[in-house]
Amino acid sequence: MGLSQLALSIAESPTLRLSEEARVLRARGEAVINLGIGEPKNRTPEAAIAAAAAVLGQGEVKYSSTDGTPGLKKAILRYTEEHYGRAAAPANVIVSSGAKQSLFNLLYALLDPQDEAVLLAPYWVSYPEMTRMCRGVPVVVTAADGGFRPGLAEVERAFTPRTRVVVCNSPNNPSGVMYDDAFVQGLVELCERRDVWLVMDDIYHRLVFDGRRAPPAWRFTDRDIEQTRVVLVNGVAKTWGMTGFRIGWTVAPRELVMVLTNIQSQTTTCSSTVLQAGAEAALNDGPAEVEALRRQMQEHRDLVLEGLAAIPGVRCAKPDGTFYCLPDVSALERDSMRLCEFLLRKALVVTVPGREFGMEGHLRISYAGAREGLVEAMARLRWALDPSSPAEIRIGERVCTRDWAR
Ligand code: PMP
Repeated sequence: MGLSQLALSIAESPTLRLSEEARVLRARGEAVINLGIGEPKNRTPEAAIAAAAAVLGQGEVKYSSTDGTPGLKKAILRYTEEHYGRAAAPANVIVSSGAKQSLFNLLYALLDPQDEAVLLAPYWVSYPEMTRMCRGVPVVVTAADGGFRPGLAEVERAFTPRTRVVVCNSPNNPSGVMYDDAFVQGLVELCERRDVWLVMDDIYHRLVFDGRRAPPAWRFTDRDIEQTRVVLVNGVAKTWGMTGFRIGWTVAPRELVMVLTNIQSQTTTCSSTVLQAGAEAALNDGPAEVEALRRQMQEHRDLVLEGLAAIPGVRCAKPDGTFYCLPDVSALERDSMRLCEFLLRKALVVTVPGREFGMEGHLRISYAGAREGLVEAMARLRWALDPSSPAEIRIGERVCTRDWAR
């Protein structure tokens, strides 16, 4: 068909594919529950709706500067100072269309062909594909103990002369694990000592449970903002549940921001000014909405952990944050794709195979959705995975049988 080898080599996002499958089943009237997608069911904060509507109401929706509207950048600077304890300047900030675009532009800016990006397993599915799209090479660090926290020595061992960047997401999608102060400090020191960029994907940094806080990486560098190798990525998608606004941002040395701006100016020009206004209002709106979502996610975590604990053979590390967990199901089935397909067909529950995150033998479960759905999903998972449960149940109109063959 004449398509590029690179384009053909890029994998489809498994989360989006499984969600699509679920949508098709639901359209057929099946009672599917989607534990695949990381999208809270909250209502968009009123302040964000009003601000976006006001821009539309003016009847003049135009481009902004490539790096974002002055108002949103100011809100990001205030937010950064509040949560990282350091002042940055407008020239250190660029707004993009979702943290996904921020991360892609960063990898595009930092990698020459065959340069290496170090990723910590379990990793967010898009990191390796984005790295490849930028003609770089993903280098995955997996903890030797099979857990979710690679050690610093393991990270350093993965470095080669071609290492340009480490991408760290904490708390982590898919495991919910938050790396501790010592690890983040060690990572900052390692990267700055070896002259390697450290991209902190902080998209979940406010969704942390049990009274803890995510260690802000900037606290561990003495360098000023123009000299540091630590780059912050964040957005409104998770913290405010504003996934559809597609607003993310990067805070970095201005030399890097200038390059990111050039890249963006040749692709999307700028993010929608309507949605930038909404994001600005959310950031300036005080902590109540964020706290409500955080508290709800903590309750959902507890509910899901309790549900998983009741299934023989399933073990799940307690998430410190996010709205995901990554139970170990290897005692039941090592092939996580096979198990996901089984659960979708037999129990009409969407999960995501751990294989996609570099953790075969695990399933990623999102507990971002509605509470009632989670309760029902946990009952169905228990039915499907516990051999002592009845061979058949009725889900909606359908009679489901548990055996693998049918
Ligand atoms: N980083 C991580 C770890 C994520 O889980 C996601 C969304 N699933 C993103 C970045 C992208 O966020 P956005 O919707 O702002 O593009």
